[in-house]
Amino acid sequence: MAEPQAGVRVQERNALRVIYYCFPGGKHKVLTMSYDDGRVEDRRLIEIFNQYGIRGTFNLNGLLIREDRVPIEEYSVLYDGHEVACHTALHPTVERCPSEQILRQTLEDREALESLMGYTIRGMAYPNGSVNDRVASLMRSAGIRYARTVVSTESFGMPGDYMHWNATCHHNNPRLMELGQQFCDLFKKQYTYMMYVWGHSYEFTDRDNWQVIEDFCKLMGGREDIWYATNIEIVDYMDAVERMQVSVAGDFAYNPSAIPVWMKVDEQIYECAPGTTTSF
Ligand SMILES: [Zn+2]
Repeated sequence: MAEPQAGVRVQERNALRVIYYCFPGGKHKVLTMSYDDGRVEDRRLIEIFNQYGIRGTFNLNGLLIREDRVPIEEYSVLYDGHEVACHTALHPTVERCPSEQILRQTLEDREALESLMGYTIRGMAYPNGSVNDRVASLMRSAGIRYARTVVSTESFGMPGDYMHWNATCHHNNPRLMELGQQFCDLFKKQYTYMMYVWGHSYEFTDRDNWQVIEDFCKLMGGREDIWYATNIEIVDYMDAVERMQVSVAGDFAYNPSAIPVWMKVDEQIYECAPGTTTSF
């Protein structure tokens, strides 16, 4: 029997390739929005988002019923296609609250919103931007998977800690359009990028500047290389990415999650269907 050509086989077997995860559709940029308090101006904001295909998360206080807020009967229709997330039941500055009350503020908000929306609510925006390690830990215990701060980074990196998720900027940041344009111009596909904008819809009425968000959405909407996602979609997708089981040789991967995951092997993009093995 002839000696196998050992050197050649080793070379073939170990041919090292660059394997990256991608965002859905093989994209490498994601835009997400986050708006707090559920005031009636959310109606106009959502109309603008929907017009340009921009998607976001609306952080609501499940037990705070007031005239200037969207009536709860309207939630499931108005916020359809976006995400409803927690903002605590009554909007206290949670750092000042006893631990038991932080848990109740979180759980009762979740329970109220879940009964209206019909899906589990696992996101949070800290009311009044109030957070410390105790607050984050308690909310995590109450099933919160991510929570947004009021800190702006003016940059496009993915968050290191989803319980301290800092935004790129508030919409009133004078650099909003400049940052938006920078984000649109990013082309280096060896990185993933996120732009995250937050605010309150009533601020556009208070400052009489709805044009700001109109212009921003017009600039950012309808782009082939941007994934338009809610906050929880990003978290859930990154969880599915982490669960991917990729062979050492880099020639196949198993996706144990219930959603598809996109991988890039050298320059080829693969959609790895849920519950199946994909050959590369
Ligand atoms: Zn608020």
